[in-house]
Parts: sequence; C-alpha cells; structure tokens
Amino acid sequence: LTAAAELLPAARRALKRYYGYDNFRPMQADIIQSVLAGQDTVVLMPTGGGKSVCFQVPAVVSEGLCVVVSPLIALMKDQVEALKGNGIAAAFINSSVGTSEANDIARAAVSGHLKLLYVSPEKLLSDGFMQFLGRVNISLFAIDEAHCISSWGHDFRPEYTKLGALRTQFPNTPIVALTATADRLTKRDIITQLNLHEPKVFLSSFDRPNINLIVRPGQDRVGSVVEYITRHPQDPGIIYCLSRKTCETISQKLQQKGIKAAHYHAGLTPNQRSKAQEAFLQDDVQVIVATIAFGMGIDKSNVRWVMHYNLPKNIEGYYQEIGRAGRDGAPSTAILFYSFADVMQMREMVTKDVPARQAQLNTAKLERMQQFAEAASCRRKILLHYFSETLAHDCGNCDICRNPPTTFDGTLLAQKALSAVTRARERLSVTLLIDVLRGMRNQAVIAGGYDQIKTYGAGADLPYLDWYSYVHQMLNDGLFYIAYEEGYALKITPRGHEVLKGELPLLLKKFQPAEKAEKPTRAS
Ligand code: ADP
Ligand code: ZN
Repeated sequence: LTAAAELLPAARRALKRYYGYDNFRPMQADIIQSVLAGQDTVVLMPTGGGKSVCFQVPAVVSEGLCVVVSPLIALMKDQVEALKGNGIAAAFINSSVGTSEANDIARAAVSGHLKLLYVSPEKLLSDGFMQFLGRVNISLFAIDEAHCISSWGHDFRPEYTKLGALRTQFPNTPIVALTATADRLTKRDIITQLNLHEPKVFLSSFDRPNINLIVRPGQDRVGSVVEYITRHPQDPGIIYCLSRKTCETISQKLQQKGIKAAHYHAGLTPNQRSKAQEAFLQDDVQVIVATIAFGMGIDKSNVRWVMHYNLPKNIEGYYQEIGRAGRDGAPSTAILFYSFADVMQMREMVTKDVPARQAQLNTAKLERMQQFAEAASCRRKILLHYFSETLAHDCGNCDICRNPPTTFDGTLLAQKALSAVTRARERLSVTLLIDVLRGMRNQAVIAGGYDQIKTYGAGADLPYLDWYSYVHQMLNDGLFYIAYEEGYALKITPRGHEVLKGELPLLLKKFQPAEKAEKPTRAS
C-alpha cells in the first residue's frame, strides 16, 4: 500500500497533465489508490460518474500495459483517439483492425511503448491472443461494462462469461471491473465469474437529485411533447422511441410545428448518424428523436430533458437514458409517457423468441418498470431502492412528491403480506403470495403446504388486482425484494421487518381500477 500511496501524487499530476483536471472526484482517488495497490477492484458508478479515469490514470502512472476489455467496438476508436489526443499512448484491436496494423500494435505492446490497449472480448479470447499477452508486461486488466457478464443483467454477452480465464492465466495481475449497473445479482456475478480475489467494491450513489422525475398518461403524446418544447424553446432534449419508424414520424411532426428536430437510429448510415449527432452536440437542432441506440458515449452536458415516448423495458435502461439529462448538475426533467397498452405491447416484445427463463426474467423486470410508472410513493426512492440504495426522505423533486395521491394507512395489509412471506419461509413469488393471502386452493398453494399457514386467507376480502397493486407498492417501498435466482421468491428487507414489528407505518395509494382500464393509445 505504501507504493500506492507514493503513486497517488503522480496520479494527481497525470490527471492535471493529461486531462486538465485539478482534482479527482470524491471516489476516484480511493479507487485509483486501490487499483495502484494491486487490489482487485469493482467500481459501480452511474454513467457520467467518471469511470474511465479510474483505470486510465493508473495505466499512465504504472509500468507496463493496461488491457481494457470493452464490448462497445463502435466506441473504441473514439475512446482511443481521445486518449491519443491527450498525449497517452493507446491503441485498439478488434475485428475492424487489419493483420498488419494489429502486428504493429502487438510489437508496440511487447516493447513497452503502449499504455492502454482496448480489445473486444472476442479478440481477447481468440486463438493465440492470451499467449501474445503472456509476452507483454501487463499492469492491469480493466473490464469495462462489466455487467455484461451477468445473465441477470440487461445486456448479457455470453463471451463475457469466459473472462474468468484472465485470472487463471494472469494470477498476479490486478483486475478492475467497472459498470453503471449496481443490482445485487450483477455485482455478485461480476465478482464470482471474474474470480476476483477479495475485491474492494466502490458503490457511488446513483442519485441524480437534479432530475425532476415525471410520469404522464399516454394520451395525446405528440400534443404533450409539442406543448412542453414550446414552453422550453431554449432547452435541448432527447425523445426516446421504441421503433425507428416512430422516431422518424415524431421528428417530422415536430418539424412541422417549427421545432428544430432530427431523428437518430441504427438504420441510418454511419454518415447520417454522425451528422445528426453533431447537429445536436452543436445545438443546431434542439431535439433529437432516437431509439436507445443514441447516447452511448455521447458527452453533452446541457441536455435539459429526456422523454420516453414509449415505456422502457426495464429500470436499468430507463435510468441509463434519463441519466443523459443534466450532467452539468443544473435542474433537468425526465418525462415518461405511460399507458397500460404500452405494457402489453412491451410484454410481447420481451418474451418473443427468447428462452423461457429469459422471458420470465424480462417479464419480471418489465413489471418493476410498470410499477414505477404506476407508483404511489416517491419515484426517486423507488429508483434508488432498485439499485440497492435507500433514501431517508422523499425527494421533493418528482411528480408524486409535488402532487401526492390520496393514501390510506396500509400497515395492517403490509403486516398480513409480510407475515405470510415469513411463515412460508420466504419462498413465495408475488402471485403465489396473493393466492395465499386470498385463500386460493390451487396446485402451487397445496403443493407448498401454504394452506396450513396462519395467514392463509387473511386477505380474502380484497380482489386480486387490489393485492397486486398493494404488493407492488410494498416492493417499491422497499419492504421486500425479489430473489430472481430463487424462483422469484420475495425476501423481506430490514425495513420490511420494521413494518412487520409495528415499528414503522406504511402508507398505500388506494387502488383505482380505472388506471388499468385506460383506453389503449395507438402507437403513432
Ligand atoms: P463514465 O465512464 O462513468 O460514464 P466518463 O469517464 O466518461 O464517465 O466521465 C464523464 C465525464 O466526466 C467526462 O467528460 C470526463 O472527462 C469527466 N471527468 C472525469 N473525471 C473528472 C474529474 N476528476 N474532474 C472533472 N471532470 C472529470
Ligand atoms: Zn420524490
């Protein structure tokens, strides 16, 4: 550790010299110290938090080469160009790099002339590449977008699961894994699958208090969008749509209203894409209407608002996309349009042509997204709870906080549910819990012996949909979490235990069936 402490001033000088920044952000210094001490390190930090510096600066001040594994082949070139522009010797090797160029890069790596080498996981695991790395003095492996290793995550890449080989081949080289996803299972998978040795884990807060979180009903979306933009004529923003077609139509409709808008999706040529992107970066267009392909690696700090024209398929995606607003810290807005019809459409999409296990997981994640949209309590609390954080107070900067719905004391209902979960030894999924509470006699209830527990039928007076809403409100409030890996069983949190023991009251929003019966809107 002494060596690391001595290197820290050098790290600070490197930050100034190569990046022009005077100070590390709070967590960066600790992370860099851990990496320089040769510790395996896990960095869970939201997009825009400054993860790159956490491995680039150690790479620069250490002897040898830092190998960066990244799945974003399209971004490697830009990242490497940016490093070179700052005067750092960097290169990338992926399928787009020819043999002779790759040989030049390999020579530079062996001779010690290179500080950072970006590779795709496919390349890293391809024939002969590990042997080649064996001849290089390697200071550090950096696994970027490390959540790709987890099949519980939202962006699973099977190649990533083979990266455990690095530890076997290079037992003494430290590994730093970085991601903007912080859920429990993803974190666990990163640590176990990379065979990390007693890693130091750094979890920076995922809270973005400057973003005002709003959900609006899905009727007349175009009207809502136009009205909002008209009221904020100077504010650049992004509208995310599900389909390429919708991007084009919405962009056109905005243009017809005299709004400077462009569309962006993966169906455009690279030239068209970079033109749209440039126009937005330069503020030549105010609005970009895009599929989620837009935004990866985009560094525009004054995006004032992000809208979701369609429901995102999970909270990870939603969070990542709204995170493109307000990176400068100034007040910003995220608006999600929501209708029940969106859920139906999305449910079909996320379950089509995927294995049953994946379909089930996707559905469960979509349900959490739906419950966020239908929430009765502070939306920021729900988001942070999803990322394993707790917020002591309601945020005051979401639509629910600004305009609270009618609530009632739901403590007794929560205690019935929590007690049933406990008595069933935390093996109940949401649906099974409701069946037990309502005293249903179906196969799953009988097989588990749940008709024998004391709370069986304790909630028979409420219809299924009411319980469905209340159990999800309890989930959103952080009384339970879902153990996806254990048949979606509900597990009680410390907060849940407090409610169960009567130490903490719980407010619930009265369930209004009308919310669900809302007429489907045409996806125009
Ligand atoms: P991430 O990979 O976590 O999304 P980046 O590494 O791309 O984030 O950093 C986001 C932005 O913050 C970049 O513009 C970067 O230059 C800037 N940044 C990083 N560290 C610092 C720092 N210590 N001081 C000021 N700006 C920083
Ligand atoms: Zn709030």
